Amino acid sequence: MDRRTLLLAAAALPFCAHAQPRRTMKDIEALQKNWKAFLPKGAAVPAASEPLKLSKDEWRKRLPNELSYRVLREESTERAGTSPLNAEKRPGIFACAGCGLPVFTSEMKYESGTGWPSFFTTIPGAFETKKDFYLIYPRTEYHCVRCGGHHGHVFDDGPPPTNQRWCNNGVSLRFIAKDGKV
Ligand SMILES: [Zn+2]
Repeated sequence: MDRRTLLLAAAALPFCAHAQPRRTMKDIEALQKNWKAFLPKGAAVPAASEPLKLSKDEWRKRLPNELSYRVLREESTERAGTSPLNAEKRPGIFACAGCGLPVFTSEMKYESGTGWPSFFTTIPGAFETKKDFYLIYPRTEYHCVRCGGHHGHVFDDGPPPTNQRWCNNGVSLRFIAKDGKV
């Protein structure tokens, strides 16, 4: 993220703080526990305990385009403001675009003003994290626990009570609407 985006995000914070309902950690635990309520009836999704390991060539064939390959498999970042999922507000599940593992529910999403889909918590056990040093300061990278696909970085300037901002590439996500509509 560049300096300008940071400033824009900071400017958007007071607005977002008012737009968000006040939640307690108990509410967050309930959101995490009840994530399956956001799946369409009868939807089959993979479990984190079934790892998906593919070769580079197999990933190139499986993923829909070069950008999704570069983000998911090479930790690239999509341009801010380019994902249609920024505007996605329907009830449902955000699944990993690489392997289909559910990673967030629509209730975990908030408008961060950064131009990337942002979430204040995750479905439990969906991600692993690591520190990266691509920029001068260390950042916490996170990736799908099932396929290892890169999703984004987590920051500590999110809304209370978690204060987490899971800043996700839209191209790493696939939205599954609860009503089953595309
Ligand atoms: Zn995955």
